[in-house]
Amino acid sequence: MHGTLHPRRLFMSTQQYRNNFLREVEANVEEGEWVKMCMQCGVCSGSCPLGPHWEHPPQEIFMMIRAGKRDEVLGSSSMWMCTSCYNCIARCPRELPITHIMHGLAHYAKRLGLMPKNQPTQKFSQLFWDNLVKKGRVNELKLGLSLYFMNGFSEGVKTAMKMQKIGLGMYKTKRMSPFEMFGGHGCKDSKGLQAILKKASEIEEAKVAKFQG
Ligand code: SF4
Ligand code: SF4
Repeated sequence: MHGTLHPRRLFMSTQQYRNNFLREVEANVEEGEWVKMCMQCGVCSGSCPLGPHWEHPPQEIFMMIRAGKRDEVLGSSSMWMCTSCYNCIARCPRELPITHIMHGLAHYAKRLGLMPKNQPTQKFSQLFWDNLVKKGRVNELKLGLSLYFMNGFSEGVKTAMKMQKIGLGMYKTKRMSPFEMFGGHGCKDSKGLQAILKKASEIEEAKVAKFQG
């Protein structure tokens, strides 16, 4: 009986039950090879603070992957709502790395251009990524400002005015400096970082092309 098997042994014994979409997820999504391990107990969805408000909480997403519902899964906004609180991972009896799978699915949907449009969390992810990769460290001042202004200039001014006390507090406690606007900290080898990112992107694209071709 499956209940008596260790998760890793069960993982090996379920290889034959994979549909095309499950195979695609296993090949392209971070930790995707764990999806078939889900026993649909619902603990993750019950533990997720936001799950009840999502179109599809994690348990449902995993069931849909196994049912081959590619468009519904990759076009879902649910993965974009995960706040990485790790409640689900801490409680899953099958030890699935649920948080990583959710982020992996969101990333994969984005690479394929299938993610839902006008997703605020997707906008934030992109701003964060663009900010981070420039120098290998997040420039908090620029990130904050780009967030304020992501929905237009007047909206940005209103938000900046609303947040000025917090900004001032961060400045006083040396959590932020206006000089970050003119550079800010970076990692030691930013050229090396760019080379690593370029290589990683090439490997990912080759994997997707191989799977789709
Ligand atoms: S807690 Fe784990 S086994 Fe249970 S439904 Fe969620 S992912 Fe599946
Ligand atoms: S890590 Fe994400 S999916 Fe898991 S409980 Fe938290 S918000 Fe929900």
